[in-house]
Amino acid sequence: MPPSSAPAAATPPEKAPGKAVVLFSGGQDSTVCLAWALDRFDSVETVGFDYGQRHRVELEVRPAVRDAIRDAFPRWAARLGEDHLLDLGVLGRISETALTSEAEIAMGANGLPTTFVPGRNLLFLTFAAAIAYRRGAKHIVTGVCETDYSGYPDCRDDTMKAMQVALNLGMEARFVVYTPLMWIDKAATWALTHRLGGDALVELVREHTHSCYQGDRAHRHDWGYGCGACPACELRRQGWERYAAAGMTMAAT
Ligand code: ZN
Repeated sequence: MPPSSAPAAATPPEKAPGKAVVLFSGGQDSTVCLAWALDRFDSVETVGFDYGQRHRVELEVRPAVRDAIRDAFPRWAARLGEDHLLDLGVLGRISETALTSEAEIAMGANGLPTTFVPGRNLLFLTFAAAIAYRRGAKHIVTGVCETDYSGYPDCRDDTMKAMQVALNLGMEARFVVYTPLMWIDKAATWALTHRLGGDALVELVREHTHSCYQGDRAHRHDWGYGCGACPACELRRQGWERYAAAGMTMAAT
């Protein structure tokens, strides 16, 4: 298996000095990426996007996750900097998808789920880079993954590599885009969570992060809150079950 920290276009030093911006949605993947960045960089800021998500819960858990990280991990608290929440309502207005409207979550005729928001990650990265530029951050971290994803073309490694080139050309910059989850599945994401922050971080992810497409915070499962039936819950549950079955063997690798 490729290294769990495989970046889009460069090998990350084990403890790179400098400043990072993490695309942080409040979900499981971006929370693990935030911990990954806090473990490596001197200073880490977060950026999130309000694009008219059908369920607001994702936005609501963001500050709670940041607070929980600060409380549980004093070594990371000093590194955790500002949060930037950008209004991208225009994205919701130009895309009629199951994430931004009452459309049903299903597989579309083009082979992509109806949760696909065209161009979303391209725009997110562009705005994150604009923030990074202004804040003097060289490193940009995103939780996109093409291992057990939903087929979103803007999550692919090639897309991220192309974006890194485009951003650096277009902004006359030397950003490095990191994708720590690109080549690992959801079970390995849980294992990475444990490797970064032990049981405390696993528990924080279970309790505070949100991935469910239905916005369900009423039902608590072993793997966290969610409806238990939507594609995001299904992925999260399956990953948890495989991780739990492998137990500490996996966490220790
Ligand atoms: Zn769900």
